[in-house]
Amino acid sequence: MNSPTRVRMGKQWSAYLKISEGCDHQCTFCAIPSFRGKHVSKPIESILEEAEGLAALGVKELNLIAQDSTQYGYDIYGEMRLPALLEQLSKVDGIHWIRLFYCYPSRVNRGVIEAIATTPKVCHYIDMPLQHADNAMLRAMRRPMSYEGYIKLLNDFRQAVPDVSIRTTFIVGFPGETAEHFATLERFVDEAQFDRVGVFEYSVEEGTPSADIQPRVPSRIKRERKEALMKRQQGISLACNQKWVGREIEVLVEGRAPHDTTSVVGRTFRDAPEIDGQVFVKRSAAKPGTFIRAKVTEARPYDLFAEVIR
Ligand code: SF4
Repeated sequence: MNSPTRVRMGKQWSAYLKISEGCDHQCTFCAIPSFRGKHVSKPIESILEEAEGLAALGVKELNLIAQDSTQYGYDIYGEMRLPALLEQLSKVDGIHWIRLFYCYPSRVNRGVIEAIATTPKVCHYIDMPLQHADNAMLRAMRRPMSYEGYIKLLNDFRQAVPDVSIRTTFIVGFPGETAEHFATLERFVDEAQFDRVGVFEYSVEEGTPSADIQPRVPSRIKRERKEALMKRQQGISLACNQKWVGREIEVLVEGRAPHDTTSVVGRTFRDAPEIDGQVFVKRSAAKPGTFIRAKVTEARPYDLFAEVIR
């Protein structure tokens, strides 16, 4: 695969960069492999060329996307080369942040963790969809690892990268999910203490193995489970944000704060564009696309409030 990334998000300083396409996994709820095909990586040189082109256009934040970023390189180099790719990308002039999306949990190994911990410009951030945490549900979804394996992985990650911000997504209401399976997921969310969680209600993708699994979970129960899990996570996200109160943090300014001409709004390394929180920084008139330092003064479940450091 050698096609250039076409997804720009309308903000000159931030872009998505696709590093591979397709997927070799067989999650029972997902139709992507049937229409995107097997995992195909772009050669490192093409990605670098594209990153340099984006930097020349003023892009400062690269958001690396794929169906499974952690498998990067396997099809063309015979080994997974995400750490090497990150190292090369970190040398591109003008790029300030590199952010990783769609990491497959069983492939977030020591090398990937080390790369996030030590490669310049790579944000201490990971998006790692887990989908569930009950072991029977994980087997039914054909997802890797287990409740216990996930907890160990999260502990290893936080030991190596203490300020890492971890985002995951879960599916509730997968066919056969009982109240007990869901209770295990709730217990896991409490124990795992994610910074950010997205929750989706299961929906049938025709032609996937899960389309034939019974019993289906009624819509009302799916909705209730989604709301309950998100509510539970709100308190955890707030606690994660509160750890930043009183600390200094770098902010990528994205515009003027609404209804306040003396403040700007932006994101930190902890906030992916479009899906995570924002930071409102008082007494700043910094231009969009610039980086400033700020001291966090208040935390809410999704957003932070801060004052600029002069
Ligand atoms: S959910 Fe993700 S990892 Fe699983 S088959 Fe679909 S694209 Fe691949």
